[in-house]
Amino acid sequence: MRFTPQDEEFRAEVRAWLAANLTGEFAALRGAGGPGREHERHAERLAWNRHLAAAGWTCLGWPAEFGGRGATLAEQVIFHEEYARAGAPARVTIVGEELLGPTLIAFGTKEQHARFLPPIKQVTELWCQGYSEPGAGSDLANVATRASLDGNQWVVTGQKVWTSLAHVADWCFVLARTEPGSRRSAGLSYLLVPMRQSRVTVRPIRQLTGTSEFNEVFFDGARTDAANVVGAPGDGWRIAKATLAIERGAAMLGLQVGFRRELADLVEVARHTAAGSDPLLRDKLARAWIGLEAVRAYALDTLDGDDDTEASVLKILWSRWHRNVGELAMEVLGAPSMIVSAGPGGRPPQTPPAGHEPYDLDDWQRLFLFSRADTIYGGSDEIQHDIIATRALGLPRQEPPPDRP
Ligand SMILES: Cc1cc2nc3c(=O)[nH]c(=O)nc-3n(C[C@H](O)[C@H](O)[C@H](O)COP(=O)(O)OP(=O)(O)OC[C@H]3O[C@@H](n4cnc5c(N)ncnc54)[C@H](O)[C@@H]3O)c2cc1C
Repeated sequence: MRFTPQDEEFRAEVRAWLAANLTGEFAALRGAGGPGREHERHAERLAWNRHLAAAGWTCLGWPAEFGGRGATLAEQVIFHEEYARAGAPARVTIVGEELLGPTLIAFGTKEQHARFLPPIKQVTELWCQGYSEPGAGSDLANVATRASLDGNQWVVTGQKVWTSLAHVADWCFVLARTEPGSRRSAGLSYLLVPMRQSRVTVRPIRQLTGTSEFNEVFFDGARTDAANVVGAPGDGWRIAKATLAIERGAAMLGLQVGFRRELADLVEVARHTAAGSDPLLRDKLARAWIGLEAVRAYALDTLDGDDDTEASVLKILWSRWHRNVGELAMEVLGAPSMIVSAGPGGRPPQTPPAGHEPYDLDDWQRLFLFSRADTIYGGSDEIQHDIIATRALGLPRQEPPPDRP
């Protein structure tokens, strides 16, 4: 991918808009809501997201006929780079904007476009992704949540898990088994289910960071209109895979700019501490810098392709890089990195008061702990290796063990 002079004009426009608008009430939002900090200033970030939407800075890649900006991939990369460079707060709309929206545009009906796309664009409805279950993560085809038609409504029963941001979502796209007795990828449907109903229970899961980015979600006869199925009933696997392809491809946009800032901050810490003159740490920091150059080069070289193998290579490259930098940060900080801030009374509180974190991590500790998740979500390392082994190297496909239901 090469940036043209027009792209650079677009970059100047984005940069100027962010500089002019991340001011006043929004100035304090810089850096808010990143990994492990998703609870921070949600209402204010929502307001910021609506401000972005009003100025046409949401849904950039959607075609104009669907309310998007029809931005090229280069422009999307530029937007995300500038967004991260400005330290703008984490967006609350990513699942709807970047996963469901493009899926609906590709596979939805006109009625679904009219009903669901505008509220995503205007940031009036937030979404979550209901794929994983206790028995279906890497092995997603093992989905057991079931749904059946009752008159003009689907009735959905089952449990999802690790559902990011379900606690603030208005809707969930749910992969459910709609053909009784079907096995594996057959007989699944892609349903759009409203979260704000009594038959949906969301239970936050506390993560290593002490916060709850993801949740368990229980559907206990939850209802949604019969028309809220994307694609034909029974065709859910194909649609779900399409969403995953979008997830793997787009996820990298802009990420590496945030990474660059993290690494620059870490180098700054090293410069002012003994770590800066430790030959082993200097070597590791230099390697991290080289690694990030490789991630960026590979991302720019492959982002416009739709090759599964390239997406897997990129996922492995960036997630391992980020996880390793989290570990390196702990080494650079040395022994103090092992201490969390004391709560009131001199000790970290064991049982936090409602709405409070159980312990107060600094940014480096949060990076170290949350980056453990990078090599899991969006397809774990082992699964990416398997894709590469099968598709790039032509090794035989591994079938699931025969005792699987
Ligand atoms: C921060 C975070 C956010 C997430 N958000 C969402 C979300 O919003 N919605 C959603 O639906 N899901 C979400 N997930 C779930 C994520 O997609 C799954 O965690 C992931 O697919 C792995 O599934 P699992 O956790 O069930 O682990 P398992 O599939 O049980 O895997 C356990 C271990 O076994 C390995 N393994 C499994 N199968 C194989 C195999 N065939 N060969 C070799 N090794 C194997 C895995 O690599 C892993 O190390 C999120 C996860 C995280 C960490």
